[in-house]
This record gives sequence, structure tokens and C-alpha cells, in this order.
Amino acid sequence: MLSNVEKTLINKEETFCSNTYHPLPVVLKKGKGVFVWDVNNKKYFDYLSAYSAVNQGHCNKQILNTFIKQAKKLTLTSRAFYNNELGSSLEYITSVFGYEKMLPMNSGAEAVETAIKICRKWGYEVKKVQHNKAKIIVCDGNFHGRTTTVVSFSSHHGSRENFGPLTGGFETINYNDSVSLEKKLKNDKNIVGFLVEPIQGEGGVVVPDDGYLTKCKKLCEKYNILFIADEIQTGVCRTGELLACHHENIKADITILGKALAGGFYPVSGVLTSKKIMNVMKVGQHGSTFGGNPLACVVAKEAIKFAIENNLSEKAHKLGLIFRNYLIDQIEKLSIIKSVRGKGLLNAIVLNCDVNSEIPWNICLSMRDNGLLAKPTQGNKIRFAPPLVITEKQLFSSLKIITKSLKNF
Ligand SMILES: *Cc1c(COP(=O)(O)O)cnc(C)c1O
Repeated sequence: MLSNVEKTLINKEETFCSNTYHPLPVVLKKGKGVFVWDVNNKKYFDYLSAYSAVNQGHCNKQILNTFIKQAKKLTLTSRAFYNNELGSSLEYITSVFGYEKMLPMNSGAEAVETAIKICRKWGYEVKKVQHNKAKIIVCDGNFHGRTTTVVSFSSHHGSRENFGPLTGGFETINYNDSVSLEKKLKNDKNIVGFLVEPIQGEGGVVVPDDGYLTKCKKLCEKYNILFIADEIQTGVCRTGELLACHHENIKADITILGKALAGGFYPVSGVLTSKKIMNVMKVGQHGSTFGGNPLACVVAKEAIKFAIENNLSEKAHKLGLIFRNYLIDQIEKLSIIKSVRGKGLLNAIVLNCDVNSEIPWNICLSMRDNGLLAKPTQGNKIRFAPPLVITEKQLFSSLKIITKSLKNF
């Protein structure tokens, strides 16, 4: 039951804010580590982590201190001038991720846009494809953000409908299907890039077969195509490796980061690539007033440092195995669970109900009542992605909440 305070706040939000989301009815006011608190001081496990943006935990102390210190000194200069943090922060971030250069932006969608621009320009100037004919291959079930160009190749009808005219130059193939990729690449000289999520997070935590990414990477090499990994949700230790591409020991030509790159304090995104590819971008051809600002830089550097120093990848790997095994063991007892899937601490349960059923939403309401927040995705799936600072003990208490809530369905 919602309190009057909650009802008033929800009503205000729905009255004055765009109605572009369908939030779970809970009003949060505080967060710390793996927990959030609502306006009635009820405590919850956060199993969404702002779509994996707060991998380092809510209001992470180490990042907070850096944030405050820098916010008192200098926050924004624009790149009309040099600032004393940009170079050294990017030196650190590029070396951690194994790239030579980074183009800093703010939101994830902007970084995807940036990668598309770099890829197209590389196509015309290095690969020498026909003027204005460059094509990028994308996958069915993708989610890369909400800008006009990015929704142009969304597979989700509602994301595209009545936002046209859409941007051309994209072709969709099935995810987890390297044979289709080769067919495309073989027959079309104007293809310049392959944009892919190593695991489709918004698509319902779809994990491709082992070897899929490797096969695609090899095909991209064979046909001189840029392999672009959107690691906005999978990156920064979420799947049990620093980058999800590391599970297959491959290095994308372009890696896109966002979300946990700044631990939830600040919108920071970036495109990582080689000098050779980045150098197609010249003065005046791309930019952002806020991109690369000193506050964003120190926060991102600290957020990555925290993730590395606290072995968040190993933790996600180890706890992810426990999480999935625990729930898989429950399948016999809990007939509502059809399957459990994921990697590291990016997991989902597929429910034994159809995609239009009310059951997933009602399960999330029940989990909320029992002290855990998660949301349905793609109809009959529920994604589970707690902050990676969760302890084993906390993991087991949250698993108890999840199974207890599922018992009633
Ligand atoms: C969230 C997300 C985006 C978009 O990021 P925004 O910051 O919301 O623009 C792009 N790609 C993937 C894989 C994402 O999960």
C-alpha cells in the first residue's frame, strides 16, 4: 500500500514530468551501497542499479569525495580551453581498457552517435566506400539509446513509430547469427561497421553462444569492417570481466562506454578506439559543451579505479555463479521460473507466462513489498543486476526475498 506522501509525490511526477516511463510505484529518497530507501524509510535491495550505472554502489564514498573536491575547484571549461584533468584521466582510462584514444561525451546514446560518425567517416576516408552509401549492420533486439538516428534502427516498433523520417544506412540481421553477418559482408562493399551488444541487456539479457563475438570479429577483419561493441551496460565489470568482450579475449575496434563509467554520479560516456581510427575526426567535426569536463573526468577516473582496486569483475563473476545456480535449483519447486540466464551479475529469469501477462509486474510489486526492487523487461523476463559491491551474505538474503516472492505465482 502506498502512503499519502508517496501518492502525492507520484501524482506530482506524473503531472509535471513527461510520461515516457512506467515506474514501479515506489518513491526513493536515499541510497547507500546496494540499498535504497523510500520516503517512508523502508529499505530495499536495488536490483536494477539504474540499468547498471551504479555498479560501484549508491553514493560510493570514494567517488563522492573526489566529486566534492573537484566540484569546489572547477567543473566546466568546455574544450575551448585545455583543463588540467582531461589528459591524465583519459590516459588512465584508455590504458585500463587497452585503447589509445577516447572521445568523451555525456549520455550513452550520444556515444553511440559518436561511434556511428567515426565509423562512417573511416568508411569514406580510409576504406573508401562510395560517397554517402556507407552502411552499418546492427542486430535484431538491439538497444542503443533514444536519439533520432539510433531509434532509426531500433527493432522495437514503439521506439520508432512517428519519429520519422528515419536515418538510413543501417541494416538489421539476427543476433547470435554470424552466418547472416557473413552473407551481408560478402555481398556489400559499402558496409563499414558492425554494431553489437556483447549481451543484449534491454533485449532481455540475451547471452549469445560462446564464440559468436569471436566469429563476428574475425569476419569484420576479413572484410575490413569496424567491429563496434556497445558495452554501455555490459562494461565496467558487470558481466564478470572489465568488458564483456574479454570473455572471448577479443578487442573491438571501437568500444562504447557509458553508465557505470562514472558510477552514477554524473553522465559520462565515451568512445574508445585506436589513434588511426580516431584521427579521421578533425577540429570542428564533433564536440559537446560538457564532454570531457574536469568534473566528469575525475569522477570517471575514480569510478574505474574503484572498480579495478576492489576486484569488481571477480566479484561479479563469483557471485553471478552463485546467483544463477541458486535460482536454477529452484526451478523444480517454483514452476513460474522457466529459465535463468546471464553472465556475472547481469542476469534475468524468464517466466512461465506470456509476454503480455500481468504476472511479471505483480512479481515485481511483491518483491518490492518484500524489500527488493527490480523491473520486468521484454514482457516475461525480470532482470536482476545489483550493484557489484554486494556481499555474498547480502546476495543470499536477496535471493531469499526473490524466491519468497516467486512462491505466490
Ligand atoms: C542504456 C544504454 C544505452 C543508452 O544510454 P543512455 O545514457 O540512456 O543514452 C545505449 N546502449 C546500451 C547497451 C544501453 O544499455
